[in-house]
Amino acid sequence: MALRICVIGLGQMGGNMALTLSRAGFAVTGSDLFPAARERLAAQGLEVVTPEALPDAEVYLLSLPTSAHVSEVIERAPGLLQRAPKGSVIVDTSTSDPAVSRALAEKVAAAGLGWLDAPVSGGPKGAATGTLGMLLGGDTATIERVAPMLEAMSAKRTHVGGPGSGHVVKLANNYLCAAHLLTTAEAVAMGARAGVEPEALLAGINSGSGRSAVSEVNFPTWVVNERFDSGFTTGLMRKDLRLARDTAAELGIPLALLEAVVAAWHADPDAPADSDDFNHIVSPILARATD
Ligand code: NAD
Repeated sequence: MALRICVIGLGQMGGNMALTLSRAGFAVTGSDLFPAARERLAAQGLEVVTPEALPDAEVYLLSLPTSAHVSEVIERAPGLLQRAPKGSVIVDTSTSDPAVSRALAEKVAAAGLGWLDAPVSGGPKGAATGTLGMLLGGDTATIERVAPMLEAMSAKRTHVGGPGSGHVVKLANNYLCAAHLLTTAEAVAMGARAGVEPEALLAGINSGSGRSAVSEVNFPTWVVNERFDSGFTTGLMRKDLRLARDTAAELGIPLALLEAVVAAWHADPDAPADSDDFNHIVSPILARATD
């Protein structure tokens, strides 16, 4: 029988994941703190409930802004720790703080529940088409229990270790993406000053060793076309960078370039607002090249 799934957090990612799982034949109920999010998904045919009325389910799939929200949903009575049926599994697809995830995984296990961290990439489009990339932190038996759901949501899954490991790898990935946006913008700016069109410069980089997802996807899709509608905000990327820096600090490893990237994303007076598309971080760098 198909798993009963409760999706908590019906934003850009969670709303699309819920619709994808529902289309795939799972019994899905969605919940969000904000009535507007619930109404938007109800209008698309999803069964929705308030946070006070969560149903019994086999999987609670979380897609929330930060670890603070994840902790609240799990721990603040009556949270999932008290109300989720024994044996059900909490899957956190948010980009969360690995140290918090490890602590939550222990509390969840003590309450007789399963835990997976399963942060994702691919944006709202990947969530809407079931083609997300997924990093898995947790034990193999728990992954196997929810495998049909993971397969319906994602094109590629990588099991990277125990609880919290998925979130560590996600922070490493987003640190690199944030850095590549800055370095690729500087490369494009240098080319522009020298009279090389951005398209030509990117074609050259993409046939060489400087290429990345930023030069292959972000620049052609969102920057060059000035269509800043990726669905991922600058505020969420800033959160991920602060988490990466805090994680490195907790581990006691000095990472000078990470510090520089965090500063560049926060300190540039012309930097985009938290609510702007994250690709906009390149705009002041490109604008200064054409001044
Ligand atoms: P979002 O802000 O669009 O959605 C978050 C939703 O959670 C909102 O609808 C909000 O009302 C709801 N919420 C907040 N607190 C709640 C609570 N206590 N109970 C129930 N609902 C609550 O964010 P998003 O873009 O969907 O991102 C969600 C997570 O996925 C974040 O951790 C983000 O870093 C990560 N992520 C986002 C993307 C992307 O492209 N947007 C890509 C990969 C990972």
